[in-house]
Amino acid sequence: MKKIVIQNESCIGCGACVGIDAEHFTFSDEGFSVVKSQENLDSAALADAIDACPVAIISLEETNEADQAKNEEPIHDDCSCDECDCTNCEHQN
Ligand code: SF4
Repeated sequence: MKKIVIQNESCIGCGACVGIDAEHFTFSDEGFSVVKSQENLDSAALADAIDACPVAIISLEETNEADQAKNEEPIHDDCSCDECDCTNCEHQN
């Protein structure tokens, strides 16, 4: 299984990926690109957006099923917030 990865710390916020492929990319509040969908990874627009990034920080990376399952688990065990199912994080009131 593949997923889109952006090395966000190196994003210069040029907007190329967002302009080419708004299905997969959007801007964060800080003005940097973030992934908004991991669906339809075979799209031509996604390939074009990856190629267009001037600092080459977007990639499609393989994930194994164990990593995928781990990523889908809540980070904290005792969550009740609406954001991430944990009570031990920045989303807690
Ligand atoms: S194309 Fe690359 S540098 Fe430009 S906004 Fe997207 S991720 Fe950032």
